[in-house]
Amino acid sequence: MNKIVLMGECMIELLQDKQSGQIAGQSFAGDVYNSAVYLKRLFPAVDTKLLTAIGGDSMSDAMLSRFASEDLNNQLVFRDPERLPGIYLVQTDDEGERSFLYWRESAAARQVMQFVDAPETLQLDAGDVFFFTGISLAIIEKSHREKFWTVVSQLKQQGVKIAFDLNYRARLWSTLEDAQQQFANAYQLADILIPGVDDFEQMYPSLCNGNIDSAEAIVAFFQDYEFLELIIKNGEKNIIVMTQDERAEIDVQRVTNVVDTTSAGDSFNGAYLGARIAGKSMQDATRLAAKVAGEVIQHPGAIVPKDAFSKLDV
Ligand code: ADP
Repeated sequence: MNKIVLMGECMIELLQDKQSGQIAGQSFAGDVYNSAVYLKRLFPAVDTKLLTAIGGDSMSDAMLSRFASEDLNNQLVFRDPERLPGIYLVQTDDEGERSFLYWRESAAARQVMQFVDAPETLQLDAGDVFFFTGISLAIIEKSHREKFWTVVSQLKQQGVKIAFDLNYRARLWSTLEDAQQQFANAYQLADILIPGVDDFEQMYPSLCNGNIDSAEAIVAFFQDYEFLELIIKNGEKNIIVMTQDERAEIDVQRVTNVVDTTSAGDSFNGAYLGARIAGKSMQDATRLAAKVAGEVIQHPGAIVPKDAFSKLDV
């Protein structure tokens, strides 16, 4: 394993100043983009490609430059001159709680499958990794879904490892049932599942009611599937690491100085997948991913300064 393709959307991020209401800063973010950045920073030898679409405008140019400045491979960033990138505004209230306004319904990234004709487009070999999330699924055009699942099935048949995180965002779906149906396809195909407890609780509330711990509900739920690796992220509590035969629980070093939890799960995913591609064991990859996520939440924003991991032993 030495290559990974992460499919999804990167957006223009605007930060609003609480006092004045003015735009105080602008950056770029999006779940798989965040994961790709952390993966590449930690494991520079891994060929890391985003599979996405952007526009032909100047903000798309800036986005592409940002990808390059993070050493991401831009070969699978396609351009749709008819469209623009999605955009979102981060607002912070007096209590420090963050909320988000999105303009992404017509974003170029929704059309990405028009540029993918066959699995060969992704330039992946057996043992490489293809990663996508529930957000990637939510944003692709409905009319492109069939093609998407055909390509993912073919990648799997060719021996590419399929990795999936739920990242369920209710507002991106017309109904919960639609999301559940699409996610079920992902569970069938995934070799590496990296669910977070919060997403699972929102998506399958009836399975999490009662006395059963939600993490155990996730373990039971995925017993019906043929994953190779199941990593259950349970916030500051712990992380359950499973194969079909073994199970371990990894402690999380609790962070008390939490500044912003944005990108905790994304950075975890990037670090975990990078570490696995680099040959680390599941448990070592999980320990590293937890340390990375623990650092990320002590900084504001999705992407933390490049020197934040200087003390980390990768
Ligand atoms: P998601 O962001 O996908 O919902 P979690 O909330 O479980 O996922 O966070 C992802 C990871 O971030 C956790 O598995 C853990 O390693 C780390 N993390 C989250 N909250 C804390 C915390 N308070 N202290 C230390 N680590 C944390």
